[in-house]
Formats: sequence, structure tokens, C-alpha cells
Amino acid sequence: MKDRLLDLLACPTCGGDILLAYASKYDGKEIIEGVLTCKKCDREYKILRGVPRFVDLGKIEEDKAATAENFGWQWTNFTQEDPKYNEQFLGWLQPVKREFFAGKVVLEGGCGKGRHTKLAAEWGAADVVGIDLGDGVESAFALTRGLPNVHIVQCDIFKLPLKKAFDYAFSVGVLHHTPDPKGAFVSLAGKVKKGGNISAWVYGAENNEWITNYVDPVRTGFTSQISQPLLYQLSKLPTLGVFLTTKLVYRPINAASKGVANKLFYNEYLNHLGTFGWREQHNIVFDHLVAPTAFYISKTAFAEWWKEISAEDVEITWHNENSWCGFGRIENSK
Ligand SMILES: [Zn+2]
Repeated sequence: MKDRLLDLLACPTCGGDILLAYASKYDGKEIIEGVLTCKKCDREYKILRGVPRFVDLGKIEEDKAATAENFGWQWTNFTQEDPKYNEQFLGWLQPVKREFFAGKVVLEGGCGKGRHTKLAAEWGAADVVGIDLGDGVESAFALTRGLPNVHIVQCDIFKLPLKKAFDYAFSVGVLHHTPDPKGAFVSLAGKVKKGGNISAWVYGAENNEWITNYVDPVRTGFTSQISQPLLYQLSKLPTLGVFLTTKLVYRPINAASKGVANKLFYNEYLNHLGTFGWREQHNIVFDHLVAPTAFYISKTAFAEWWKEISAEDVEITWHNENSWCGFGRIENSK
């Protein structure tokens, strides 16, 4: 944890300022071990392995902990890098472009292993705070340690230990895995300053009926319950099906004739998936099978979220015909 993160932190319980009580291990740039304390209520929070911890994983609700733990395992075990990630990331944030980050104080709600936090920092953000509930923070800290403008914090998105001090907040692929996606979005928006912006990308209800009908029962009843290493192996089988179909059917037909391709089941998404290699596809399949909680949000419900935070100039975009991207400006947040 870098000293200057203190300016952005606030006690998740009472909102008071956070002070550094002491640092027992410091590497010259980061406080590796230490204790933070709230100026107002005296509560203490630990800094462990470079990351300030505002959660007690033993105490958070079982479902949230299970989701965080499952994704934590995934993020430590799928560590491939792919240049397509930049493009994919901006696709989820549309209409935001990389220049948008320059000089901004940015918050990422659910940073996983920190891939997007790192990009935001490299694209010129003044400071980026990546928060996550689970083990992903260990990888995120390792990945971003060399960057002077990145801060990784372990906390609950519903109880953010942060001041209302951000120019921009974003969350991609995380809100729908919390027990209350809209509540998590409102919580995130609450940390954005007046005139700042927020982006969110969520699974859509539309066109995902096949997932809610056929994949969800398997996920909730079986795959989210078994051990991660076992699921890692088992999920190779459906991945093989997806891999062969996208590479041998969708890509060639899309290349030959868009007219024919558009008649294919779920074409936009499966054709896009076909641009990824085996590991990325395995990651996506695993992702759909691992989470104990997943909501699929309709456009109407998603639009309500933006009304709830009184956002202005809201742009909602249908992404790959199976998910929603939203972007808006905050003028009257609570
Ligand atoms: Zn406090």
C-alpha cells in the first residue's frame, strides 16, 4: 500500500478518516505489513502482503465469500495475457476511449487479478484504486506493484472504505455476480464526485435465455459446488465443443457470408468468441460455470439503475447481443 492511498480511504463503518497507525514492513515504496486506524471510531484495519484489508472473509456472507473464493482461484490459475484484452476492455467501456483516463482518479469495482486496473494506470490515470473481495487481490497486487499510480484494496463493494473522491468509476463483469447487482452499482456510484462518470458492463437477460434455462441449473446445482481444480478439468469438455464450433463453423461462415452467418444461433457472440484461443475460451466457459451467484439483467432493469443514481447523458449499448454497457455522468448522487 502506498502512503498516498490514505487520502482516498475512509472508514467503511463510520466514514471517518483513515490514518496509518504503524508500518512494520516497508519496501521503500509500499507498506507491506502494518495497521490502519479510523480517526473517528478507532477501528483497526490490517495491511497484509501489501494490501489493506477491510474484510474478514470469515464473517462475510457465505455466498459472497464463495463467489470471491471461486474467482480468486480462477485468477491465480488463468494468467494468460492477450493483446485483444485492450480492445475487449474498451468494448465494455464504450464510448470511453483510452485518452479518457488521462489525469483522472479512477475506481474499479471488482478488479480480479488487476488486468483492467493496470490498463487504466498505463493509460494515464492519476490514481487507480482496484477493489475486490477475494483472493484476486494477491495477484492484482503482484501484477501492479511496479506502477506508482495503482492501489489495490480488499473490501466489500457494498461497504467501500473510500471517500467520494473519484472522477470515474467502472465495473466490468462483476456487478451481476453480487447478491444485489443494483445495490452494488449504487454503492460504486456513491464514490464518484459531482460531474464525474461511471461505466458498467453486465450480462443481459435478453438472448441469454439458453443460459438461464440450461446452463444455470448445472451451475447452481453442480459446477459451483465442486472443487475448482476438478471443475478446471471438467470444463475442458464443454470448452472443446465451443472451440470446435466457433473455429470450424462460425468463423468460416462469417468470413464467407454475413447474410448466412446472421441466421446462425447467437452469431454475434459466438463469432466474437471464435477470435479467442483455447485458454481464453476455457476461461470464459469456466467463468460461466464457477460462480454461485449470477444475474442476467434486462435492458429495462438496467435503465432503472441509471435513474436510481440520477445519472445524466446516459448511453446504454447492446454488446455482442448478449450484454449491456452503460455510461453516464453523475450530477446529483447521494
Ligand atoms: Zn470509523
